[in-house]
Amino acid sequence: MSASRVNARVRALRPSETLALSARARELRARGEKVVSFAAGEPDFETPASIQNAAIEAIRGGHHRYTEVAGTLALRTAIAEKLRRDSGVTYGPKEIVVGNGAKHAIWNALFTVLEPGDEVLCPVPYWVSFPEMVRLAGGMPVAVPPAPGRYKITVEDVERVRTPRTRLLILNSPNNPSGMVYTRDEVAALVELARRHDLLILSDEIYEKLIYGDARHTSPASLGEEARSRTIVINGVSKTWAMTGWRIGYAANTKLAPVFTRWVTNTDSCAPHPNQWAVVTALNADQGPSDHMRDVFLTRRDHIVAGLNRIPGFRCQTPGGAFYVWPNVTDACKRVGAGSSEELRKRLLHDAGVAVLADVHFGTPVEGEGQHIRFSYASSLPAIDEGLSRIAEFMKKNTR
Ligand code: GLU
Repeated sequence: MSASRVNARVRALRPSETLALSARARELRARGEKVVSFAAGEPDFETPASIQNAAIEAIRGGHHRYTEVAGTLALRTAIAEKLRRDSGVTYGPKEIVVGNGAKHAIWNALFTVLEPGDEVLCPVPYWVSFPEMVRLAGGMPVAVPPAPGRYKITVEDVERVRTPRTRLLILNSPNNPSGMVYTRDEVAALVELARRHDLLILSDEIYEKLIYGDARHTSPASLGEEARSRTIVINGVSKTWAMTGWRIGYAANTKLAPVFTRWVTNTDSCAPHPNQWAVVTALNADQGPSDHMRDVFLTRRDHIVAGLNRIPGFRCQTPGGAFYVWPNVTDACKRVGAGSSEELRKRLLHDAGVAVLADVHFGTPVEGEGQHIRFSYASSLPAIDEGLSRIAEFMKKNTR
């Protein structure tokens, strides 16, 4: 046996399909292939200048050392203020822990609360890394399929799969990959269910600001003291302020924050110091640049939904948030003789030079719902047009 053998838990770990496909699209481009990529869930904007300047000032001003383990007091105070302002929920700085991105905060939360074999409810479709992290933390991911075509779970859907081992419900609204947004009543019903069965809720709110039209974000933590105590709020700055590479996220929960801090003392020491100062500016300064990005995403959403619905075989609902669309491609698969959404995805990449993700990456497709693929529309309007016209051409050439 080799000394560098990998343990069984990690052998079972799959790479993040979203990051893997984005890397593949970049590789193909580097080789000179003209790939239009809808793969990465990553804003294509630069971080606003005021935020960049804050980081430069922090570096020049000597902010080079470790910060408090949970994050600077200035940042945790700004996050507390943001949570009060945007979600109507009150936390003090001591109840918030800053981490290296929201992913890190999710990891700390799952690793802290799960006992071996604890079941974690993952509403389908779900973000690729949830089940992987749950398994690594010793838990068992349990898919919760909604009614076909609804893309959101109800209390009844949970009751069908819940067992006495169920410990935690993951709620991600606006959702990656469907873009669907849970209404306040829908969140309240799930909170009530969590209360009845003594479940924790991990609320991944990373797309909370990317929300359009009548849709409104409701944090489960905002629905009363009891809801707040059983919710772990997870958020970060990557999507709202185009800061994916800065790696700043956070978790909020009164009882668990000190435990997350104990984690960070041993694993990370703190999140990058200058970046924390930049995020104070992101949270406190004029929100014009991030509002502008949201408005641009909205224009792109309408554009891509209309464009996809013009392609024979594609049926696309208009999602209320995030920067993903999730068209039903059952008919498209039939037309071109693709046996699955994954086969269609591969053919779109290789024959049309368009990178998207297939539903199989986001949980077993819901029975009776047909097949879907995910587009991230975090790319320019001309790129969206180019991608759509390549897909239309591909469909025309390959329809049997
Ligand atoms: N969350 C984004 C996505 O789904 C970024 C990559 C990742 O963290 O998975 O594409």
